[in-house]
Amino acid sequence: MPERTPEVIDPFIAQLFAHQHDSSHYESALAQMKAADIPEINVSASEGMTLHVIARAVTAKRILEIGTLGGYSALWLASALPPDGKLITLELDPKHAGVATRNLHNAGLSDRTEVRVGPALESLAAMEKDGVAEFDITFIDANKDSYVDYLDYAIKFTRVGGIILSDNTLTHNALDPTADTGITRFNAKLAHTKGLISAIIPTLREGIDGLTISVVVHK
Ligand code: SAH
Ligand code: MG
Repeated sequence: MPERTPEVIDPFIAQLFAHQHDSSHYESALAQMKAADIPEINVSASEGMTLHVIARAVTAKRILEIGTLGGYSALWLASALPPDGKLITLELDPKHAGVATRNLHNAGLSDRTEVRVGPALESLAAMEKDGVAEFDITFIDANKDSYVDYLDYAIKFTRVGGIILSDNTLTHNALDPTADTGITRFNAKLAHTKGLISAIIPTLREGIDGLTISVVVHK
């Protein structure tokens, strides 16, 4: 029997449920990213499935993602939306945004997705100024130094009863009580934010990392 290591468990989960999804879109998105030399820092397939299931569980109609990369996690989230749903995803790097836009198009999801290029803090400030409608889910997965600032926007933009997801919350020295990183600051801030109830789902890509799930109970 194979050992229960992260390297074995992650693909086991992904393969067990793969037939429930249109796997060809996810595989070709990863191939496009590789061809474009985009770093392989996307969520794993099993974490993508987790995002998809959470989006369906709250019957999400509006999702905000901060940190698009090649659109891999965006595919998992947007494919959980109804036809009139909307995912807005924010990305700094125009090359990443271009690959993501193509991947979402190829999956037939152009009608419900929008990739906004630029520093996310600028895009978020513009959305606030424009009075953006609330989201059911906000997924934070960009530069870790700005996670604490992204959290402020996530709280403002996510509806009560909605969910804030944050990726990579068990790496970046998360467990070192003396460390001062974007993630240690984020975890400390999140733990002390009134109105949010949080848990961490361990994830298994290249060792153990974490996906934090926070319910907005009140603002
Ligand atoms: N969510 C993606 C992975 C995102 S990787 C997935 O799982 O498929 C982090 C992304 O954040 C990178 O594409 C990087 O270019 C982008 N990024 C870094 N700094 C940023 C900033 N200030 N504003 C917006 N995006 C940023
Ligand atoms: Mg991530």
